[in-house]
Amino acid sequence: MRKNNNSKKAFLDSSKIIPGGVNSPVRAFKSVNSLPVFIKKGKGAYIYDLDDNKYIDYIGSWGPMILGHANETVIKSIEKVIKNSTSFGAPTLLETKLAKLIKKNFPSMEKMRMTSSGTEATMSAIRLARGVTNRDKIIKFEGCYHGHVDSLLVKAGSGSATFGVPSSPGIPKDLTKHTFTLKYNNIDDLEKCFIKNANKIACVIIEPIAGNMNCVIPNKKFIKKIRTLCNKYNSLLIFDEVMTGFRVAKGGAQEIYKTKPDITTLGKIVGGGMPVGVFGGKKKYMDQVSPVGPIYHAGTLSGNPAAMSAGIKTIEILSRKNFHKNLEKKLSILMLGLKKSADKYNIPFQINYVGGMFGFFFTEKNNIENFEDVNNCNEKIFQIFFNLMLGKGIYFAPSSFEAGFISSSHTMKDINLTIKAAEESFKILSNYLNSK
Ligand code: PMP
Repeated sequence: MRKNNNSKKAFLDSSKIIPGGVNSPVRAFKSVNSLPVFIKKGKGAYIYDLDDNKYIDYIGSWGPMILGHANETVIKSIEKVIKNSTSFGAPTLLETKLAKLIKKNFPSMEKMRMTSSGTEATMSAIRLARGVTNRDKIIKFEGCYHGHVDSLLVKAGSGSATFGVPSSPGIPKDLTKHTFTLKYNNIDDLEKCFIKNANKIACVIIEPIAGNMNCVIPNKKFIKKIRTLCNKYNSLLIFDEVMTGFRVAKGGAQEIYKTKPDITTLGKIVGGGMPVGVFGGKKKYMDQVSPVGPIYHAGTLSGNPAAMSAGIKTIEILSRKNFHKNLEKKLSILMLGLKKSADKYNIPFQINYVGGMFGFFFTEKNNIENFEDVNNCNEKIFQIFFNLMLGKGIYFAPSSFEAGFISSSHTMKDINLTIKAAEESFKILSNYLNSK
């Protein structure tokens, strides 16, 4: 049995002063009926908790740690910078350097602004789209998460193409009435919404590979159609690549789908594990941002030097030849290995993966297209599998609605250990299912 006395104690203590004991809900392990592990340190593919358990980490801080934890080059670059202070609130050369590196890989981002989180980046992107089009309505897709921005924290209303309803108390209906929430991968719904609201839609925002409803890969035709409709109705297309940027490919999902959005949002990897977000796009739009134009954006810590240097080093390292090819090769061995083991024990199990990002689903349906498909997966089996794997030192995302991530530090030994642990867990699951 995994020891967890110290984590348990830390959680009881933190719960007294921090709501739910954590600073972001999914960390609480609520959806897997478990208690969070408190982390002490990380190195490469591994993290260690307060009870000295070692885990192979497939969360990687929810995406940023594509090089693994405590990469020496990244850490050294941060150390070098912070010796001269951690923040100035004045421009430094590092901001221009990171922006140039990003633009090299994301040519659609002709100009960009740094923020301190992905949420701020999407919030600013939506404001920009509304500001330049002088329109209020926006389209998002069910199951896509774009941070905790009021107008993006919206559930689908009943029936497709209806006004959205807030997903959280505290968000005025007057605000979410401007958000349409449509089905991912559904071209008909999208077309109808545009026809019905011609000249009212400021923008469409999408995770061009969805990582917040597990890992759902869009149909190529769907992505192309969004671009065509945005062009036709003079609406802006926002690719939220906070998760996919530098993760699925160096140039993100827009490189894979050969589609140029008008605005892109980034985060996670571009900060190398430090707090960063970015929004950027066509020059003619970005030049509407203050102080050049009237659309307001600011931030005390935007472009923070330590975060910029961590991002620069991370991007420099992942720019090495075959970085993503090797990452995906390793990931494919892991995913196909998991699938083979599940099949051996007749566990309904599907996989999706691209670049360094993956998802697995306990369902018979082998083409997971949207939020509804993810909701139809077997949550109970996921919970059991998650806890079995955690007990064997494998740290997967504690929710069946989150994607998983691999880093360049994961070795073939780690992959094989993971497959072995999964095989043992599937065997236990199969006994459990057969006994029911
Ligand atoms: N967009 C996407 C696609 C994300 O995955 C996330 C975070 N998981 C965000 C935006 C929000 O980023 P942050 O948590 O840094 O605010």
